[in-house]
Amino acid sequence: KADADYLISLVRAIPGFPKEGILFRDIMPVLADARGLSILMDALVSNLPIANDEFDAIAGLEARGFLFGPALAERLGKGFIAVRKAGKLPPPTVSESYALEYGEATVEVERDAIRDGERVLIVDDLIATGGSASAARDLVISCGGVVAGFSFIMELSGLDGVKALGDHPTSSLLAMP
Ligand code: 5GP
Repeated sequence: KADADYLISLVRAIPGFPKEGILFRDIMPVLADARGLSILMDALVSNLPIANDEFDAIAGLEARGFLFGPALAERLGKGFIAVRKAGKLPPPTVSESYALEYGEATVEVERDAIRDGERVLIVDDLIATGGSASAARDLVISCGGVVAGFSFIMELSGLDGVKALGDHPTSSLLAMP
């Protein structure tokens, strides 16, 4: 409880960023704090949505999924797969486009990053509508992988983002209004 409170106290809420009407949740102060980072990593490990032997690799979403995904993967004895914004990875890649509030975004992985049947846990800092995580899910499936589950640091409550992911084991450490 003290640890959870400490973690929550480090998450900064910024109204009006990156645009008006958005209350942005900033995890950078958690990472910058030695105790905060240690609590965060321990909490991610102990709140995995599935057992460690039920997945083979971790895929993290650019950019904040890159900040803790590899560290989590190393702790759990897994490899890390980068889900990047379009145009950053060398070919051959697999792409998935998804709708944003205004327009569209595309994410990519290197085609050979995921083996056939590989069970992948998808991680990101925050789930809002679930659009980004759903695109990562579809990418894993396009590559022949299996979505083992999702792990988030924060979940915005009231947006039903987790429902958008479909029927996969999911965990999030902090629910934010
Ligand atoms: P979604 O696709 O679920 O609507 O939005 C989640 C994606 O947008 C994640 O990749 C996440 O990093 C980013 N995002 C959206 N809102 C916030 C926020 O308030 N704080 C942070 N740190 N990321 C956000």
